Amino acid sequence: MNRRTFTKTLAVSIAATGLGGVPAIARKPAPQFSITMDDFHWTNAVKLTATERNEAILNTLHSNSHKAALFVIGRNIDSIDGKQLLAPWDKAGHMIGNHSYSHRNFNAPATDVAAYQQDILKAEALLKEFSRFQKYFRFPLLKEGDTEAKRDAMRSFFAQHGYRNGHVTIDLSDWAIDQRLTARLKKDPNADVKPYRDFYLEHMWARAEYYDSLAQRVLNRLVRHTVLVHFNLLNGLFLGDVLAMFKAKGWQLIDAEEAFTDPVFAAKPKVVPAGESIVWSLAKEKGTIAKSLRYPAEDAQYENARMDKLGL
Ligand SMILES: [Zn+2]
Repeated sequence: MNRRTFTKTLAVSIAATGLGGVPAIARKPAPQFSITMDDFHWTNAVKLTATERNEAILNTLHSNSHKAALFVIGRNIDSIDGKQLLAPWDKAGHMIGNHSYSHRNFNAPATDVAAYQQDILKAEALLKEFSRFQKYFRFPLLKEGDTEAKRDAMRSFFAQHGYRNGHVTIDLSDWAIDQRLTARLKKDPNADVKPYRDFYLEHMWARAEYYDSLAQRVLNRLVRHTVLVHFNLLNGLFLGDVLAMFKAKGWQLIDAEEAFTDPVFAAKPKVVPAGESIVWSLAKEKGTIAKSLRYPAEDAQYENARMDKLGL
């Protein structure tokens, strides 16, 4: 090895070990995040079969040494096939949470609160067969009550049944992008999927930065984030890219169970309508920031115009 090659090799190895980077003391603490995945809809398979999608997502989590949380709609595992698809999540040690049996919108004015609570217990009866099930409830559509009475009835119900709210901190509309992607592939199975990936990553990062800075404004500290994504083709194809992006931006991936130890998840903001991201709810409760918040906090309506323009 001549001197020039040696110097170059040394420089490369210093860069690889991080010794040549910014001194640790000057670095800002890394935001921490975890993946929390909702619904477990698996009968809508396009491009990948349900089993292929399941394996793709599980392999991504495994190769990132990540234990996620999966919030399951009871109806989706009320069959032999559904249970078989959920079993590897349990075996791999991912946390399994309750997302109700029927996935109803609790803010619908005609909601019967007692029936809604029974629907949660109906899902629990199916989920408790799985050893990694824990009593965390995630409200479908993140709708926690359009009146104080409904909101507080659920809080009492959770206290009585030993449930915690499986809050989201970073909310986004991956489902809306997935709808466009799925529709495109149904029409043209060979369509280029990269523009959907690019839009997804851009949208994900925009929402992550928004909720992270909102959390710091409201709480004056970093929170351990729970990112909301769905069990869909989009994540079957691109969840690995999402994780790689966060890591490249300096964020640290932590297990969902660890994220849920953050005290922010025990907060019970007294706002109506209740729900959305817990960060959004706390910001709403804090009057000074409330005016800058949109409602709903996230929805396809905010993304559709750009997706139209991009031809997605
Ligand atoms: Zn859902």
